[in-house]
Order: sequence, then C-alpha cells, then structure tokens
Amino acid sequence: MAAFREHITFSTLLGAGYGIAAATVLGFTPTQGLLAAVLTGVGGMLPDIDLDTGRPSREVFSFVAAIAPMFLVHHVLRFFKLPYDAETILLSLIVLYTIIRFGVSELVDRLSIHRGMWHSLPAMVIAADIAYLGYPGPNIKSKILMGTGVAIGFLSHLILDEIYSVELNGVAVRLKKSAGSALKIAGPKFVPNVFTFALFCTMNFAVLSQMGVLDPPSPEPASSPVIAQPVNPYFPQAVPGVTPVNSQPLYTPSSIPVQRYPQSLQAPGTLQEAAGQQTLPR
Ligand SMILES: [Zn+2]
Repeated sequence: MAAFREHITFSTLLGAGYGIAAATVLGFTPTQGLLAAVLTGVGGMLPDIDLDTGRPSREVFSFVAAIAPMFLVHHVLRFFKLPYDAETILLSLIVLYTIIRFGVSELVDRLSIHRGMWHSLPAMVIAADIAYLGYPGPNIKSKILMGTGVAIGFLSHLILDEIYSVELNGVAVRLKKSAGSALKIAGPKFVPNVFTFALFCTMNFAVLSQMGVLDPPSPEPASSPVIAQPVNPYFPQAVPGVTPVNSQPLYTPSSIPVQRYPQSLQAPGTLQEAAGQQTLPR
C-alpha cells in the first residue's frame, strides 16, 4: 500500500497538469483550472477514507468535511426551501460540517473494511458524480471538468495501490496478497457490492438526467392524449384529432376587424350599377 503522502503527491502532480491543460488547451479560466487541480489532488486521497484508524482517514475526513459543505449548501437550502441569508448559510455550513466530520466518518468506520468497495472503479465514478452534481451553476462543461478531475485523482490512487502490490525481489516479480484489491469492479462481499452498485446507478441516473441525456419520467402515465400533448401557441389545432387544453385559437374570423368602406367605394351589386346606370322598373 502506498503511503498517504505518496498518494497526495502523485494526485497533486496530476492535478497540476490537468489544471494547466484546462486553463490553456481546454479554454477554461485560470481559476477553474486551479479548482480542477485541487479537486484532482483531493480525489487522490478519497479512497483511503476507509482506513478505520490512524491519521489518513481522519485527515481525509477533516478535508472533505471542510470542502463538501460549500458544494452542498445551496442544494440543501433549495431542498428545504430555506432563505438565502448570511445567517442561514453560515448555520447550514456548520451543521453540514458536523454531520460529515463526525456522523459520516463514524458510519464509514463501522460499515467499511479497508480495501473494500471504496477502492473500486464504481466508487471512482460515484465520487466523480458527486463532484459533478455538487458543483454549483448551470455550466455543464465546468461540472464535467471538476468531476473528471476527481476521477483522475481517484484513479491515480487505485493505480498506485496496485503498483505497490507488486514486489520486486531482484529479478523475481511477486504479487502481494493485496494485488487486484484496488483496481476492481466488484469485491468478494455481497452486501457492499449491492450497496455500491445501487449508489452507482442512482448517481449516474441523476447526472445523466441533469445533463439532459435522459428525460425525467413523467409523474403519471397520460390517461388521455389531451393532457399529454403540448399546446403549440401558434398552431393550436396542429395535432390532428387532439383537442389541446388551451384550445382557444389566437385568431377567429370574428376577431379580425372588418374594414368597412364608404358606400361609394363598395362593390357594385350588378353590371348596370357598375356601368353607372340606374336599373329601370319594367
Ligand atoms: Zn488506498
């Protein structure tokens, strides 16, 4: 197993390269590039939150607990319909910090074993999804930039763990027992696998629907096409056989003002009138 410091060094170096590429080649601002670099660095320490004792786990949790509330706070305020004033924001940040730093870390300590499903490719995708969903703003490109940064850092951690499970004894290459336990898709235990894949599907569904790739499911199946059909304001009767809810057409013949001409300009009734002759009674 690679040491915590090696993970951080490796992912931070990758993050620096990624951030520079984002700000130069990919056309993001320097600030966005810097943030992507930092998130890549953080991604490199995330898998070790399952270390139940010792410094790395505590440090990862302190770090995540300090950063995550800033990403989450506006979602929380919107979800609970809380006001966006300074006091509510500050209180929400403190509550979120406390929940993550102590509540979630306690839960992870109890539930996970080291090199369990936190060290896996699905967990990498979940971490990237969380960064994507948490990143504020509607700009999908920057959300993808941040999510990808976390994924790169996370992947670097898994790869480094696998590299460290190869032992070199002179010329003989020997695999440690830990080989294959980091860069994996599923672990040997049933419940953590089910939990991880359920989370994996939920998160990917949320991301894809936010990207607009998936249409959100309609709340109830339409019983009649009248409700389901959108009303085209320009052509209210455009859908044949369907009466839209708002079936009032924009223009009816009676709503068009009729231009009345003076008597002398109106069309003559007969040819004689047209010729200026009076029709004589017989
Ligand atoms: Zn690890």
